[in-house]
Amino acid sequence: MIGALQSAALFVKGFWKPVLQPAVGISLTAGLLAALLSAAGSSVAVLPWSAAGLCLAFLFGGLGWASVACVAASAGIFLTLLFAPDGLHQTIMFLHVGFLWACFSQFLRADMDREAAVVRREDRLGRLRLETERGYKAAEVCRGEIDAARERIAAYNRLRSFADDLIGAYDRGELTRRAREGLKGLFPRAETNVTLFPASGQPDPLDEMGRWTLRQKGARLYPNRSVRLPAAGEGRFLLLPLRGREGVIGWVSLDRSGGDSPFLFQDLRLALIAADLIVMSLGNAERYAQVETLAISDGLTGVYTRGYLNERLIEEFAKARHQGKKFSLLMLDIDHFKKVNDTHGHHIGDEVLRWLARQITAQCRETDFVARYGGEEFVVLMPNTRGKEALSLGRRIREEIEATPFRWEKTSLRVTVSGGVSVLSDDLKDELQLLGRADQALYRAKESGRNRVLLYE
Ligand code: GH3
Ligand code: MG
Ligand code: MG
Repeated sequence: MIGALQSAALFVKGFWKPVLQPAVGISLTAGLLAALLSAAGSSVAVLPWSAAGLCLAFLFGGLGWASVACVAASAGIFLTLLFAPDGLHQTIMFLHVGFLWACFSQFLRADMDREAAVVRREDRLGRLRLETERGYKAAEVCRGEIDAARERIAAYNRLRSFADDLIGAYDRGELTRRAREGLKGLFPRAETNVTLFPASGQPDPLDEMGRWTLRQKGARLYPNRSVRLPAAGEGRFLLLPLRGREGVIGWVSLDRSGGDSPFLFQDLRLALIAADLIVMSLGNAERYAQVETLAISDGLTGVYTRGYLNERLIEEFAKARHQGKKFSLLMLDIDHFKKVNDTHGHHIGDEVLRWLARQITAQCRETDFVARYGGEEFVVLMPNTRGKEALSLGRRIREEIEATPFRWEKTSLRVTVSGGVSVLSDDLKDELQLLGRADQALYRAKESGRNRVLLYE
């Protein structure tokens, strides 16, 4: 109902000015004329009704029906002229025909105006539609740009967490693992691989990918992994040599062969930044390792420092006691070392200390921990080791040192050591007591003639 009323209102609004106005005007004029003529008692009073008929024909049938109505009315009037009683009636009828055609011309103009209004409206609508389409297209472009910007922001956020993650890696293995994981986060649909050459240099022989990498001057996008030479087309395999200060130190590859979309330019840029981050993080990790090694290594002999020995002793002692495991300690001291210094000079004494540290380390196992305890005293921590085993290791070291002369230039020198072994037992108060017992055993070894290793009893 409301819809019908709305349509009617729109119809009236659309027709009011161009069509309804003249039709209503003509109908009113015709009705007024009919009333006047009826009042005058004229028989031609019916003629104005033809004008009203013309209006109705125009309103409900359009211009075609109005012209038919006009022609029919004119023909009828001319026919009745034959029966007109006098000249006045004939004049009125003539005038009426003129009036009808004047009305028709009004309708014609009104119809043309209406047509023109429709055309104008359609024109405006067309322009509006065009502008709307343009607006939609601009909005589409904006949406694309917003999506791209959002994607870029997300990628840089991923890159930031990738960098954060790499910072925490302190050795090559850990860095490689983190870089591989991080690259998976950066390029979720790609198979990622990170290879770092060992610190000692490029491996020999290099595998195929390594040789391929070394031939490249920079990052390359390949159609796929199997092609040797770069070719035009979609890139699904990305190879980036990792360049450190001393040359290529490894490579990163990203493979999207099985994926739906190839790598784009922005992927290449992102991968290049990621590769730079890996190289920088490796530099950091190496510097960190160097600082750490310097902090815990004895500058002269390269074995661990006394400070670090104390830390490890507390730790290993507590661990062994807590887990009910064996734990032994060996203390070694060079015999008459003062004499070596006095006879050959301190620089030779230093070389002897270096050589001795190498001798001890060579005899020890992976799990043993060698440290320089004092000037010419060394301590070996031996986790999971019984007293008997520790004693035999100590004796082996002593024998080896005694049997191997220290040589420099044309001179050789026989060096001997004495040692004391202590073992973790229930009556021990703390780790210092364990150390003290080894010292006591060493003292006994010195006392009883040197060049021997004794177990604390
Ligand atoms: P023993 O242990 O057999 O009783 O005699 P020793 O001569 O080895 O004992 P002592 O403890 O009296 O001497 C240790 C010497 O070690 C004294 C010191 O000159 C020397 N020494 C300590 N540290 C260093 C070092 O870093 N370099 C050199 N060249 N000598 C050192
Ligand atoms: Mg000493
Ligand atoms: Mg000594």
